[in-house]
Amino acid sequence: MTIKPFSCSHCGKCCKDISKKNIHLPLPAPMVNADSSAVKYPVHDRGLMVNALEREDIIKLAKKHSIKIRFFPLLGYFSKKFKAIFTVTYILVCDDCPFYISDKCIIYKQRPLTCRSYPIILNPQGVLPPVTGDKRCPSSTVFSHIPDYSSTQMKLPNYYKFVYALLEDNYVAALKWYYFLELVKKEFERIEKKKLILWENFTLTYQKQYKKFQIVDLFSYLRKHDHYSEKKYQKLKDGFHSMQINKLFTKLKIKLSVPSPREIRKKGLENLLAS
Ligand code: SF4
Ligand code: SF4
Repeated sequence: MTIKPFSCSHCGKCCKDISKKNIHLPLPAPMVNADSSAVKYPVHDRGLMVNALEREDIIKLAKKHSIKIRFFPLLGYFSKKFKAIFTVTYILVCDDCPFYISDKCIIYKQRPLTCRSYPIILNPQGVLPPVTGDKRCPSSTVFSHIPDYSSTQMKLPNYYKFVYALLEDNYVAALKWYYFLELVKKEFERIEKKKLILWENFTLTYQKQYKKFQIVDLFSYLRKHDHYSEKKYQKLKDGFHSMQINKLFTKLKIKLSVPSPREIRKKGLENLLAS
């Protein structure tokens, strides 16, 4: 049997009706679902998840195409010290994605990480397997070739190699979500100098206080208060967007190197997986 890597057919199913399907969450909904918290944080859990390194660019693209968009903050870190909730992920509130026009994505090259990782659903505990796919994507049949890690004899490095060979860019994008969460956690702890508290884990005491708190974008704060110059921020953003799989593994402390997409195409998937 020939196993083919994941290939998006551009059917557009994942760009439409997002609000009803909650389809664009690469991380399972409970991890990022604000409704589980009693805090009356202005949040909407349906739509397209966008991270704080992407939001400004999406706003610019919307302006360029005269499209009106709005975001709700989704995930943030609560800081008593700064009396602020530092937001790191947002929901672009929509039913059909506003960038899906005349049956195509008009910002395809600059589309958010969530769109790049879809239909992957990763383990909320970290980068470890299992890796599963959203069955609503017609091309998700590739996931039937990915064994459940707990039941396979495969060693972890081989499992990563296998998954990457089948999912390539989508897997890189999904891992970037984890890297992003690690990155913002580190930045937050640097300015707060203690372990973070996710706003969704507020205790009742904090909840009473939160109304006095400002909701601030973490990177806007860092730039405004000189922790980051514009140049440093741009470098971080560019590095994040262009990072490839092996560097990502290094950053995530996974000791493994995987073949490049070029090698995968050259050697053939079956040969590579057998090696
Ligand atoms: S990712 Fe899946 S649902 Fe989305 S456009 Fe591609 S094939 Fe269609
Ligand atoms: S940004 Fe593009 S790929 Fe993502 S949901 Fe919108 S139209 Fe689809």
